[in-house]
Amino acid sequence: MAETEFALDLNDDQKEVRDWLHGFAADVMRPAAAEWDEREETPWPIIQEAAKIGLYSLDFYAQQFFDPTGLGIPMTMEELFWGDAGIALSIVGTGLAAVGVLANGTEEQIGTWVPQMYGDAGDVKVAAFCSSEPDAGSDVASLRTRAVYDEAKDEWVLNGTKTWATNGGIANVHVVVASVDAELGSKGHASFIVPSGTPGLSQGQKFLKHGIRASHTAEVVLDDVRVPGHCLLGGKEKLDERLARAKERAKKGGERVKNAAMATFEASRPAVGAMAVGTARAAYEVALDYAKTREQFGRPIIDNQGVAFQLADMRTSVDAARLLVWRASWMGVSGRKFESAEGSMSKLFASETAKKVTAQAIQILGGNGYTREYPVERMHRDAAIYSIFEGTSEIQRLVIARTLSGMPIR
Ligand SMILES: Cc1cc2nc3c(=O)[nH]c(=O)nc-3n(C[C@H](O)[C@H](O)[C@H](O)COP(=O)(O)OP(=O)(O)OC[C@H]3O[C@@H](n4cnc5c(N)ncnc54)[C@H](O)[C@@H]3O)c2cc1C
Repeated sequence: MAETEFALDLNDDQKEVRDWLHGFAADVMRPAAAEWDEREETPWPIIQEAAKIGLYSLDFYAQQFFDPTGLGIPMTMEELFWGDAGIALSIVGTGLAAVGVLANGTEEQIGTWVPQMYGDAGDVKVAAFCSSEPDAGSDVASLRTRAVYDEAKDEWVLNGTKTWATNGGIANVHVVVASVDAELGSKGHASFIVPSGTPGLSQGQKFLKHGIRASHTAEVVLDDVRVPGHCLLGGKEKLDERLARAKERAKKGGERVKNAAMATFEASRPAVGAMAVGTARAAYEVALDYAKTREQFGRPIIDNQGVAFQLADMRTSVDAARLLVWRASWMGVSGRKFESAEGSMSKLFASETAKKVTAQAIQILGGNGYTREYPVERMHRDAAIYSIFEGTSEIQRLVIARTLSGMPIR
């Protein structure tokens, strides 16, 4: 991979993209945020608007993903989640599934399925990545969904229940992680494409949530779902080779195999950190404006150190979180090893910052902050997700502590 110097300055192209994203976030997402939060439904018209201008497309995300500075994705996430977290997740959720195909699929599979995940501006589609299960959340290795190969028909038969799937059941394409060899834990997992309308595939419960309510989250039930052999991402030959290698390695040191699974997401975690930075920055800005204009005791409340110092701490934390996120993203694209679990560090710090800063924003807005008349109430509810999905804060600490110490900390 190309050596790229770490830089804190966005280049001219990046600034142009950031300003374009900011315009969409401010003019389209922000005004619609409260409505879609109340409706608790996928904001299809907004996704369509995003598709019309090329913001909801594989091309755009691929361009940011391959940005050699590493700042394309964090910059995109921060601006969109600054606009509104629920709507933003409806827009970027498809990317999770697309990355699953890009990372594991053959060129043919990428060319066939990824366009079907996005659809086009006249007929937008979404995709879902289905890994979590009722009994396999943090402990991903223990998932129970099974995929069994029916050699006579060259078909895979999938059975199980997935939960918490963003866009689950409404997606045009589901990427489903299933176990093909239970003894190998996460090394015995494989990913399958399940197109909408496949017999046996159905949506279970749709969850009513605390925050990011514009993003659809549901169970996905797989009842004797049959998909053709070509729906196994990467193909059968590659899977058989991988399983043979994993069996060999498992014989040598089982614990090492288990630990490796927890660190798999190190490169993708900064993107979630960047989402948290967006929400935290949004709440900080609302609080700063409010503190300058709200008067009590005959002067703006920001004239009190008790308020001004909180704002100083909020801004310091937001900037520190962004720096950790940018460092980890740059490490990811420049092929550096996450020797101190820097990806997990960035997600941990940014997620906790978002929760803290949005709570401080409510405090600064007083009674108004506690109502739905002002956006910080929604931002505080939204912020709670970052320390839960893509690995909870406790799991991030576990990964960091294990990486730093080399010990099997539990
Ligand atoms: C809105 C939303 C969207 C989501 N989208 C998706 C999606 O698109 N696809 C998908 O596959 N999944 C998705 N998820 C699932 C998400 O990744 C899981 O919720 C998350 O991994 C945590 O799993 P869990 O909820 O089962 O919690 P659990 O694993 O049961 O954890 C419960 C608590 O125990 C703690 N804990 C668990 N193990 C340990 C340990 N070893 N040490 C210390 N503490 C521990 C956790 O930190 C947590 O505080 C989504 C979840 C939500 C809420």
